[in-house]
Amino acid sequence: VVMASENEAAVAAVPSDSPTIFDKIINKEIPSKVVYEDDKVLAFRDIDPQAPTHILIIPKVKDGLTGLSKAEERHCEILGRLLYTAKLVAKQEGLEDGFRIVINDGPNGGQSVFHIHVHLLGGRQMNWPPG
Ligand code: IMP
Repeated sequence: VVMASENEAAVAAVPSDSPTIFDKIINKEIPSKVVYEDDKVLAFRDIDPQAPTHILIIPKVKDGLTGLSKAEERHCEILGRLLYTAKLVAKQEGLEDGFRIVINDGPNGGQSVFHIHVHLLGGRQMNWPPG
């Protein structure tokens, strides 16, 4: 199926706990532009950037966290670490004038990859409300 847009991909995506393309990125089976990595999280450039800086921050172990709507108490530590990493990467990217953090969830949220990820967007004025 040829997808006309990221939005259509999100609407067509079936939420599941199966491995995603992000596992291949974590395992370095497919290349990515990594900007930050530690034992818990990986941050890499989005392949289809929506701003001069557009980075995805993901947990290396998904542990059922396909999206924020699946969060359980045990995920609190990794959820905090994803946001803290976003702050570190924003500084590393020189986004001192500000940035935007986005977590899309489910079809209405426009989620297309079911491995939780924080979008870090910056380098231009962000609009409100978002689309
Ligand atoms: P979502 O729409 O919030 O689920 O975000 C998924 C993001 O992953 C989109 O912004 C895609 O552009 C991005 N993406 C999908 N595949 C790859 C890849 O192979 N490398 C980097 N980013 C990707």
